[in-house]
Amino acid sequence: MISDEPENLVALRDQIRLWALELGFDMVGFAPAVTPPNYQFYLDWLQAGHQAGMAYMKRQAEARQDPNAIFPFVDTIIVVGLNYKPEAYGQPLDLKPHQGRVAAYARGSDYHTVFWKRLDLLLQKIQSQRPQVTGRAIADSAPLMERDYGQLAGLGWIGKNTCLIHKKIGSLTLLGELLLDLPLPPDEPFTADHCGTCTRCLDACPTQAFEGPYQLNAQKCISYWTIEHKGEIPEEIAQNLHGWVFGCDICQEVCPWNRKSPVGQSEELMGDGRFDNPDLLQWLEKQDSEWQKAIKGTALERTKRAGLMRNACHVLSANGVQDAIPKLQRIMQNDSDQFVRQAAAQALKHLEVDSNVGTVL
Ligand code: SF4
Repeated sequence: MISDEPENLVALRDQIRLWALELGFDMVGFAPAVTPPNYQFYLDWLQAGHQAGMAYMKRQAEARQDPNAIFPFVDTIIVVGLNYKPEAYGQPLDLKPHQGRVAAYARGSDYHTVFWKRLDLLLQKIQSQRPQVTGRAIADSAPLMERDYGQLAGLGWIGKNTCLIHKKIGSLTLLGELLLDLPLPPDEPFTADHCGTCTRCLDACPTQAFEGPYQLNAQKCISYWTIEHKGEIPEEIAQNLHGWVFGCDICQEVCPWNRKSPVGQSEELMGDGRFDNPDLLQWLEKQDSEWQKAIKGTALERTKRAGLMRNACHVLSANGVQDAIPKLQRIMQNDSDQFVRQAAAQALKHLEVDSNVGTVL
């Protein structure tokens, strides 16, 4: 811990806030490095098995209790947010059955890189004033209950859909943190809950993934199955992805706090439209090298080509796209990934094609 006069620390905190905004962050707040207020709620969630196959959530349970586990001697957590709301958000979609949907946050550059670059610059600015200060930049890359710290930093409340909601910016934001061994005065925590009697997110979820307010069961969540889950997707889930090939935004799309929120200004996160409503028939035709080029530097690298192809096979079959049949037959026989071959076989079965002989029944 580095000692300093309190008034100097207030001035430094205010200066850091300005720097963060100058670096393009849409929100910034200061939280103390304490045990996250919802830690017990998180343990109960694990106990109920709602983390599904994300075994790391359980493994990292202890670390999430104390931010010192990820950065020793941490005193302050600076929480920053980037708004990724696309221009066309909320406009009616007229999707063709062969088009898929990608979560809005993943359509541009990989947010990890965007955060790390800006947070490193922020740390450099802080060190220009206090050379002895050390810090660690986090972008969804360490076991930290970031929404809790966002709330403690006064940025908003955790909605019934489990997202952090900022009163002006809404919930279409990504969070990052800079952990510092410098005791800056924290902001006032956000204590109100502006969800009120609304239950739109809970009602709109097509797979009933919310067991109740604030309780998301990953076992039923489209985002979990399309991104986190590796391998085969069970039939009943595969046929209920509702067009999503990477993530899902439904519980945010219906949230009234996202209706009038401003459009994001970080160009890197907005993407060039390639992944807005992709043509999945074209996806099935892509060569490995084309995939590598297409997803390099984006958040889609998390599932890699295989995850995206698997999901595309399922969406096309659920939507009854007959034009996909010859492509699926080729994939079932030749694809290099066993789960993609399996997904193609599953898709063909659903399209009522005998996947053994390749004929329409
Ligand atoms: S949709 Fe309603 S209940 Fe759900 S997070 Fe938004 S305001 Fe809260």
